[in-house]
Amino acid sequence: MKYYSTNGQVPPATLKEAVLKGLADDNGLYMPEQIPLLSGEFFASLRSKTLQEAALGVATALFGDDVAPAALRDMVYGALNFDIPLVRVADNLYSLELFHGPTMAFKDVGARFLARMMQHLTRNENSETNVLVATSGDTGSAVANGFLGVEGITVTVLYPKGLVSKIQESQFTTLGQNICAIEVEGTFDDCQRLVKQAFLDVELSARRRLTSANSINLARFIPQAFYYFWGWAQLPQGCEAVVCVPSGNFGNLMAGLMAKRMGLPIKHFVAANNANDIFLCYLQTAKFSPRPSIATIANAMDVGNPSNFARIMDLYGGDHAKVTADISGYRYSDAQIREIVKCTFDETGYMLDPHGACACEALRERLKHDEKATGIFLETAHPAKFKETMDSILGVDIAIPPKLQAFMGGQKQVVGMSSRYEDFKDFLLSS
Ligand SMILES: *Cc1c(COP(=O)(O)O)cnc(C)c1O
Repeated sequence: MKYYSTNGQVPPATLKEAVLKGLADDNGLYMPEQIPLLSGEFFASLRSKTLQEAALGVATALFGDDVAPAALRDMVYGALNFDIPLVRVADNLYSLELFHGPTMAFKDVGARFLARMMQHLTRNENSETNVLVATSGDTGSAVANGFLGVEGITVTVLYPKGLVSKIQESQFTTLGQNICAIEVEGTFDDCQRLVKQAFLDVELSARRRLTSANSINLARFIPQAFYYFWGWAQLPQGCEAVVCVPSGNFGNLMAGLMAKRMGLPIKHFVAANNANDIFLCYLQTAKFSPRPSIATIANAMDVGNPSNFARIMDLYGGDHAKVTADISGYRYSDAQIREIVKCTFDETGYMLDPHGACACEALRERLKHDEKATGIFLETAHPAKFKETMDSILGVDIAIPPKLQAFMGGQKQVVGMSSRYEDFKDFLLSS
């Protein structure tokens, strides 16, 4: 399989080139040249498959030309070493719980698969690959944990000193092994500048193999298609499925749209936004107008210029009517999110996190117009990751799961650094 850039200004790339580059040289996003249609046989046996078996079937259709069966199997089974249960919340409303991985957010799926794919693609090279990542919180933890213990790859996480929550910080500063955290005297923008400058540094690139684990990497978004197949197969037979996705950069929704293109019979998608409703505005007006993001309590969706919008346009040939036929949108303010979390908990006993709350409510609204359909919303993070917000909404002291507590109890190991590029470069060359 070859991968083309959505900007079309560079030749198609191999899987290895596309994964190690992340972003194409013309600043486009990579897309597979063919989206394979899965066979009737595959769908007929899907209900009897485990999550890993279903995922391997999908992965083989996409990556089978480039990755040998045994290696692909290791990749899928290694990445998906946790459950993704479909939990019934109300009559025709289900939550696909994507938060049972190591950092308790759905980004574990993409990050763990990307780590294994990168390791595989660089396995015959004798130099270490160094993944550089700048983080304001969540990306650092998913990437660091995704690559933890993966041989041949080291991860350097840069984060702004004092500007990341304690729980987030603990998820990438206490790991040790092949993960190094750098606490930068500066802002997130300084961290990002240091990483970008390192990628552009010819002298450094000649001596160190550097790459990114950016959220636009195709090996991060494609594996997210796996759980759409799995979730659909857990529904009672004969359901017409509508799927709702709490969206920020739209990688997760994009993966669902790919699954549909591969033959998965999802009737309709719903994109849930918080106050950052750039995509909803596009659905309503056919105009895409990025703007600076606004901080909300569903902060992983605070995105003012969703990067995967380019992929969605590419998939639909920029045809607004076709996009709106497949996808609807809704938006929720912080006050509404609080209300949704509270009411859902009181009425059903189900605890939504602020992101899942947007998705759950958007799905309810959609199902009002389609009462025959059955809805699945993606629950992208465990509520305890937003403990302060949750406690204030519900008036309780929610328990931190042992998995998150374990991070908090670990020994913080960081390298302190100025925001000068020369210091960062010296560090990379000496390590
Ligand atoms: C990243 C994230 C999202 C947004 O996902 P996209 O793929 O960027 O649209 C939603 N919820 C949580 C908890 C996240 O961490």
